[in-house]
Amino acid sequence: MTIALYPGSFDPITNGHVDIAKRASKIFDKLYVGIFAKPSKNLTFSIEERVSLAREALSSFNNIEVTSYSGLTVEYAESIGAQVLVRGLRMVGDFEWEFAQAIMNKKLAPWLEAVCFMASQEYQFLSASIIREVSSLGGDISCLVPPNVAKALQERFSTGK
Ligand code: ADP
Repeated sequence: MTIALYPGSFDPITNGHVDIAKRASKIFDKLYVGIFAKPSKNLTFSIEERVSLAREALSSFNNIEVTSYSGLTVEYAESIGAQVLVRGLRMVGDFEWEFAQAIMNKKLAPWLEAVCFMASQEYQFLSASIIREVSSLGGDISCLVPPNVAKALQERFSTGK
């Protein structure tokens, strides 16, 4: 049985993330979407909110489980028995960072393989940060995120929380 971990901050989960998770879930027996609790960036949603938004968005996939973690990704991967780390690669910007991270992870955990999925064409320029920015300015992002996320963003920014 091949277990894979798709780690990230998912602040919030977008259709680009869902697309990668869906494609990975067809290849691996079990996919954990691991949400990193405390990334070194300003967050819009708490860890509980990010987990709950991702859980609802991915609820139709039987072999996907959404969890949260802190500390080293490779240590979390080991604790859940994952042999594979799933990452998404967009055309501009992701490659160098993913490559550096993969080399570092290989040093820390030689048994863990990184598998990168090419971002689908329609999501190449989609990031959680651009979603947050456009949404905070009142733009309509509903075709780029799951419906529950669109609602959560609208509520978050309309109340100015
Ligand atoms: P972001 O980079 O959007 O802030 P995360 O840190 O949550 O998101 O990213 C988790 C993983 O998902 C990374 O491997 C990232 O490259 C990938 N990813 C993010 N957005 C997309 C997208 N639109 N298409 C494919 N992969 C993506």
